[in-house]
Amino acid sequence: MSPYFKKAVSANNISAEKATEAVRILLQYIGEDPNREGLRETPDRFCRALLEMTEGYSIQPEEILSTTFETDSDEMVLVRNIEFNSMCEHHLLSFSGVAHIAYIPSNGRIVGLSKLARIVDVYAQRLQVQERLTQQVANAINKYLKPQGVAVVFEGQHSCMCVRGVKKQSSHMITSAMHGQFRDSLASRNEFMSLIQK
Ligand code: ZN
Repeated sequence: MSPYFKKAVSANNISAEKATEAVRILLQYIGEDPNREGLRETPDRFCRALLEMTEGYSIQPEEILSTTFETDSDEMVLVRNIEFNSMCEHHLLSFSGVAHIAYIPSNGRIVGLSKLARIVDVYAQRLQVQERLTQQVANAINKYLKPQGVAVVFEGQHSCMCVRGVKKQSSHMITSAMHGQFRDSLASRNEFMSLIQK
């Protein structure tokens, strides 16, 4: 049994049996036979996948951002094209794309670059709306790293726009959150925007 599955038993006191039964009911709801060969293990697989995709709930951002390093630079640090996968809380459908994160260190404190990618995952692997996801990543970096400024842009493609509703395949949603120098200085913001558009 995957570690994700075990965790579910304690969350809200819902047992794995109860969760898989709910998926069996959903299958019946759309007219399927949950006992047919191809679907027999589907409720179990679905619950595991769902837990894996929402793993971020069990990770605290401070675990990731508390280890910092010294540097003598106070220039912008930028990581572009950090891939993410998340789930829209309105339809439980996936949305995915890339995030761009920049910050300007304060007192020479920087974090490992992989930490910025991990902080994206911590918040993406929850039920989300892209606007909040963007804010949460920016707020966490601002809170734990205390930089002179932080800028975060998410570009996402939403399944709920592509496969249902208006069915627009190539529309992208762009959201941004800025703090400190990126909010106050047009020059810093423009430098960030031109670097991520290259
Ligand atoms: Zn949606």
